[in-house]
Amino acid sequence: MADSIFTRIINRELPSEIIYEDEHCIAIKDIAPKAPVHLLIIPRKPIAKLCDASGDDLALLGHLLLAAGAVARQVGVEDAFRVIVNNGAGAGQTVFHLHLHLLAGKQFSESQLGF
Ligand code: AMP
Repeated sequence: MADSIFTRIINRELPSEIIYEDEHCIAIKDIAPKAPVHLLIIPRKPIAKLCDASGDDLALLGHLLLAAGAVARQVGVEDAFRVIVNNGAGAGQTVFHLHLHLLAGKQFSESQLGF
């Protein structure tokens, strides 16, 4: 299968604003932000979607959440941010390489779970 857009960004084959990286993941600015702060936390491992993760990915999934917290602190939004994962086209997933959306900088209503 062809490399995803995100794998090509990780491999520096496509440009992107990378704001964080470690051995397991990178964080980039979303190209079409839905909030003043809209970042994507992306594992280097190309898991297509959350439901494709297995027990082997237990530590990686935890790492992604810890990275989200670290990135939130790095950009100064640790007191108020939202993390979203879209799983499958029906849920709005458009890039089939697992990623966490980190959104901040706007008021989120309690009932509104989307962007
Ligand atoms: P999803 O709809 O959950 O699959 O999210 C994919 C996200 O990737 C969308 O918010 C897009 O705006 C974003 N996106 C797509 N291509 C790029 C890119 N080249 N650089 C940064 N973000 C991108």
